[in-house]
Amino acid sequence: MRWTNYHGHCEYCDGKGRIEDYVIKAIELKMATIGISSHAPVPFETNWTMPEGNLPGYLQEVAFLKDKYKGEIEVLRSLEVDYIPDTISPKASFIDESSLDYVVGSIHFVDQFEDGQHWAIDGSFAEFEKGLNEIFKGDIKAVVKRYFELEREMIQHACPDIVGHMDKIKMHNKTKFLFDEKAQWYVDEVQKTLELIAEKGAVVEINTKAFKRNGLIFPGPEHFNTLKKLNIPITINSDCHHPDKLINGFEEVAEMLLEQGIDQLHEFHEGKWVPVAFEKEGIVI
Ligand SMILES: [Zn+2]
Ligand SMILES: [Zn+2]
Repeated sequence: MRWTNYHGHCEYCDGKGRIEDYVIKAIELKMATIGISSHAPVPFETNWTMPEGNLPGYLQEVAFLKDKYKGEIEVLRSLEVDYIPDTISPKASFIDESSLDYVVGSIHFVDQFEDGQHWAIDGSFAEFEKGLNEIFKGDIKAVVKRYFELEREMIQHACPDIVGHMDKIKMHNKTKFLFDEKAQWYVDEVQKTLELIAEKGAVVEINTKAFKRNGLIFPGPEHFNTLKKLNIPITINSDCHHPDKLINGFEEVAEMLLEQGIDQLHEFHEGKWVPVAFEKEGIVI
């Protein structure tokens, strides 16, 4: 039995520890594959994306470790890339030129403040409220709809291999009730997005980053049935920012998937995503 993880960070962006620390930990955990996916550079300053000048070093280091640990574990080279209209996308030329094994595409930014600053929706609650009030005049429904609109734009025009934390916009509902996740308009947004993902053939990760902290996963179990019906390939990813969190929540999420009749995950093999059987303790060899 073994696990794979295709979404994780390191000291090149906002993760803790060297890439090699993650690889060593993954070997200890008898994992088959570890994909390294730091936040790709964006053309403005943030405190969590990789500075542009560090990209060549990152790409070289992952390639070096891929070779060094060949035979022990498969190390894959990736980036988590943002989608911002006319600014960056998973199909940006510098992403193409990075010779990645696969790309994770995620929405973190939703529109801009008056001064041009991009609004990151997954920061602190205070930051979220600021954008909600200043950019969207307090209209949470408009924020959520815009988030999914951007996600679908990304999938339509610059489809990544893996769609990162598909419904992350719900995260602040945990701090304070903002909108009803059972409301038809919300369910419709998720449904439309998943239908487009199915049409384009992208993989949906079940992102466990927050699971141990507050029980949230993205997308949540309420959407597993739709994933199943649409036959969407799934992988469980930890989006870890520390080597100790490499497979956080995997067993619990595997159990939830199995309970809803999902009995296949997808693994990346020689450039293709292939279905594999799994149990609560991991992928069946
Ligand atoms: Zn992300
Ligand atoms: Zn991430």
